[in-house]
Amino acid sequence: METNNNLFKEAYNLKIKHRGPKVYFRGLIEISNVCTKNCLYCGIRKGNPCVDRYVLPDNQVLESARFAIEAGYGSIALQGGERQDSEWVERIARLIREIKELGGTSQPLGITLSLGEQSSEVFRYWKQAGADRYLLRIEASDEQLYSKIHPSGTKNHSYSTRLQALYDLKSAGYLLGTGVMIGLPYQTRVNLDNDLKFFKELEVDMVGMGPYIPYELTPLGKLVAQWKQDKESSEFRGDFWNLSDKQLLNLSLEMVARLRCLMPHINIAATTALQVLDPLGREKAIMAGANVIMPNITVTEAKRNYNLYEGKPGLQDDAQATKDFLLKNLESVGAEVGWNERGDWR
Ligand code: SF4
Repeated sequence: METNNNLFKEAYNLKIKHRGPKVYFRGLIEISNVCTKNCLYCGIRKGNPCVDRYVLPDNQVLESARFAIEAGYGSIALQGGERQDSEWVERIARLIREIKELGGTSQPLGITLSLGEQSSEVFRYWKQAGADRYLLRIEASDEQLYSKIHPSGTKNHSYSTRLQALYDLKSAGYLLGTGVMIGLPYQTRVNLDNDLKFFKELEVDMVGMGPYIPYELTPLGKLVAQWKQDKESSEFRGDFWNLSDKQLLNLSLEMVARLRCLMPHINIAATTALQVLDPLGREKAIMAGANVIMPNITVTEAKRNYNLYEGKPGLQDDAQATKDFLLKNLESVGAEVGWNERGDWR
């Protein structure tokens, strides 16, 4: 634990040296929970019949974007399930243009997209419409592990396609974000070491990585629940499947800190999933080297149906309550907010 405290301090000092003390907000708009995919860990996977599906109407997306401007957030992130139909592609392009036209206090809102794999043409089309960054998490950079957490034998869950999508995003000129889950079944320490190398080799601009929180309504969540019933099995389950919340939090913070030491200039998100493990999980990540937070600004009625994992926090809070709560917590750790700033490192 003491070793980690030293690591956290080193990472924090590197962040201050290279990026300064500010934390940047990306107001998160969960635009739709309709998804064509079936990732084995995800609460809104297509195969989960217990989800009330929604697609936010334009006026609700724009209302949230206006909130972001008034609240002084320099950027928003449009996040949703993966769809590739032309109606969706056109709608996203239109929304990007409309959000840019809303302006911002000092400059138009920065727009991050997190809308899954698309063709290189669609990536370029959305970039030309005005999107600035794209977040596509690899989730597990090891191909074998990737295949264990996605359905096998389906074309739209292929590791190579995902990797290609990351290269296409770079070519299209986005600031590129990716990330992984920490504490997955079958995952090993070596996998995590290699995840960090993967980010470095890809020269990403931002990383959002957080703990894997099992959700019982998913195949992977069921598997972990079974393993907990049957602790004696000799089957290989990886290094982390049975960690306590405290251990998993510590491992996640360690990854954040190691990444800051490896890539001192990039943006690193303190992910919401950390808050499931500890009410101050995100603030602890800020103290371990992270510098971005994505406060949820989705209209409250829709937000409760965007349940990616069990115990997702803040589902009942509106955008203003989320902001107030976050500011209080950030103040408690002495963090400064980069109001009206995008916080891009290049
Ligand atoms: S992780 Fe993303 S692509 Fe996979 S099922 Fe969930 S929303 Fe869809």
